[in-house]
Amino acid sequence: MNEWIEKDLKYIWHPCSQMKDYETLAPIVIDKGEGIYLYDINGKRYVDVISSWWCNLLGHCNPKINEAVKKQIDKLEHVIFANFTHKTAIELCEKLIKVVPEGLCKFNFSDNGSSSIECAMKMSFQYHYQTGNPQKQRFMALSGAYHGETIGALSIGGVDLYSEIYKPVLMDIFRIEGPDCYRCPYGKTRDCCNAECFKNAEKVFKEHGNETCAIVIEPLLQGSAGMRIYPPVYLKKLRQICDEYNVHIIADEIATGYGRTGKMFACNHADISPDIMCLSKGLTGGYMPMSIAVTTQKIYDAFYADYNEGKAFMHSHTYSGNPLACSAAIAVLDILSNGSVLKMANENAIYFNNIIKEKFLRHQNVGEVRSIGLINAIELVKNRETKEPFDSKLRTGYQIYKKALEKGVILRPLGDVIYFNPPLIIERKDMDFVVDIAYRCLCDILPE
Ligand SMILES: *Cc1c(COP(=O)(O)O)cnc(C)c1O
Repeated sequence: MNEWIEKDLKYIWHPCSQMKDYETLAPIVIDKGEGIYLYDINGKRYVDVISSWWCNLLGHCNPKINEAVKKQIDKLEHVIFANFTHKTAIELCEKLIKVVPEGLCKFNFSDNGSSSIECAMKMSFQYHYQTGNPQKQRFMALSGAYHGETIGALSIGGVDLYSEIYKPVLMDIFRIEGPDCYRCPYGKTRDCCNAECFKNAEKVFKEHGNETCAIVIEPLLQGSAGMRIYPPVYLKKLRQICDEYNVHIIADEIATGYGRTGKMFACNHADISPDIMCLSKGLTGGYMPMSIAVTTQKIYDAFYADYNEGKAFMHSHTYSGNPLACSAAIAVLDILSNGSVLKMANENAIYFNNIIKEKFLRHQNVGEVRSIGLINAIELVKNRETKEPFDSKLRTGYQIYKKALEKGVILRPLGDVIYFNPPLIIERKDMDFVVDIAYRCLCDILPE
């Protein structure tokens, strides 16, 4: 074992890991990154087809982003953001306002995705309190939801793997049975349904809409649930019912924002504006921890009063509006601004989806290949006809992950859903490569 690994295991408790697994699969010590590639200290190359936890948007060590951060660091690294400001944050908002859904115009900064969700939930709660609806104290979320892992964000999450054990300390929320298009109980398909499953939401709104501040939702794509994709009509219906019941939509675009679904934001597919939108991950191109809860003038105004009325939003994070993160975020928007990156990504997305379907659909354990933007997910099942999943204890996805690592591809499946969520700049030759490797690894574990 090399000395770096030894020291790593001596000191570091890695996120979302059973550390005992590291006895058989040691942490890979990465030395440098370039574009979609990572290189370990032995010079072995890995294709980062999961964008380093979905945040790397435009490749590792992108020259333009590097330059922007280098320039910023010699000027100002950080400053208190209460009563102080800086040009970099202002310029970022000026650029962001041009691309976010209509009506979103006030930017509240935090330093990671979960924190922006907490911020949005508190903001919504306080808005209702201060506008004559103190009975609105609860939140709604979908089954399979993932919004982060702080206590508040975990409470609205619906993935047991992360939240089950903490239930005694989580808040009680109203859970809506969300869309599950692969196993649609109405026997419909994504491209022709009318979100029949929205009935479940209607029922919960009827019972509890009046005591609810907000529904938090991942628009179109429930990432951690296994890259579940559902159609825009669901969001359109949601916008309508939320207006009816005076319930905010908090759109968690942390994973879906910044072109991941083929449009700048997933909400754009449904042509809706949320009341609060949370951004992180792609926001800084995966460079720096930063997040923003963007909201409307209307919500902002409910907090605007003489100090002694006590209406201010007393919420802060030390690193709010960090200038280095803002400089990276500006560089990201500049790169995306002429539209050619997204256009190219969308053209390549068709190619990517085609080669994945061509390779994988013939395998008897592939239940579904689903895609949105460059994101492609392959759901493995024990039985294709009944859609019966594998026993999760077999850790089928994890075995495929290990095989792919040997061959230089980072897959990191969600349970038994293998997925690709590459940086937008991935080229076709790399698509060919990762699809070929992934398929061979699948066949190693589950022979054709
Ligand atoms: C990653 C993610 C979060 C949490 O962000 P962190 O920065 O990890 O706290 C929340 N919601 C979604 C949809 C995410 O993908």
